[in-house]
Amino acid sequence: MYASPRNSSAVLSTERSGDKSYIVRNEIVRDLTEEEFDLLQPHLELMSFGQGEIIQQIDAPIDHVYFVESGIVSLLVRNAVDAPVEITPVYPSGMIGLEVMANAAKAIYRAAVQVPETSVLRLPTRELQRALEQRPAIIRVLRDYAQLQMRSSAQNLLCQAKHSIEPRLAKWLALASDQYTDGLIPIKQDDLAISLGVRRPSISWAVKRLVSRGLVERRRGAVQIRDMAGLQTQACSCVSALRRFHTKPAGRAHNVHILAGLRADGGEQNLGA
Ligand SMILES: [Zn+2]
Repeated sequence: MYASPRNSSAVLSTERSGDKSYIVRNEIVRDLTEEEFDLLQPHLELMSFGQGEIIQQIDAPIDHVYFVESGIVSLLVRNAVDAPVEITPVYPSGMIGLEVMANAAKAIYRAAVQVPETSVLRLPTRELQRALEQRPAIIRVLRDYAQLQMRSSAQNLLCQAKHSIEPRLAKWLALASDQYTDGLIPIKQDDLAISLGVRRPSISWAVKRLVSRGLVERRRGAVQIRDMAGLQTQACSCVSALRRFHTKPAGRAHNVHILAGLRADGGEQNLGA
């Protein structure tokens, strides 16, 4: 399952031949002190998922939590009849499996990978709980993120109820461009339809509208942004609020944590083994 992260500059060679070290990007993990990170590090595992893969299923036991390192994961709810509806996107500022903090033994959300080469740090839930017993102060980073996820979910609900599809699509692409700085967003229209909670024909129509305004171009399995300023203008008002919720506030810790002993030849590997 393991593959190199999308941004290869995040992986650094070490003195040991064939091994690499990896600089953690997730903002929750970067909020941890050195001592707190050292407690978790032996149990963290870097994994990469492909577009459309499911990281967590509704009602499945939460054996692991996942800190997103790159890409975009969608937290979804669904029933037996209706198409899935997105509760919130999760960027490299966030985590999957936060339900364990509310003592949920089973997952409330489905977590679906939205873009190719999404990478995560996987941590066994029992190891997170052990770390919390040893260093209860770790709870602060999880509570901070819980608040941001609640705010993002509420904004997403408002957006789905009140804003029309074209500004919502412009918002989604503008937020994604924070990670894809060349403006090439590797998202399929089927996945955009799930994220925005609309049918595929509605997404095709909205993409055509943005293309006709000269804001984006369609590519195979991707959307290329052509006019970022114009896209921001076209986006609904949620874009600034959501960007705030998914970006670390000024003045918060931004520590550099390094995972050592990452094998350079690929293959799933538990770094703590
Ligand atoms: Zn909106």
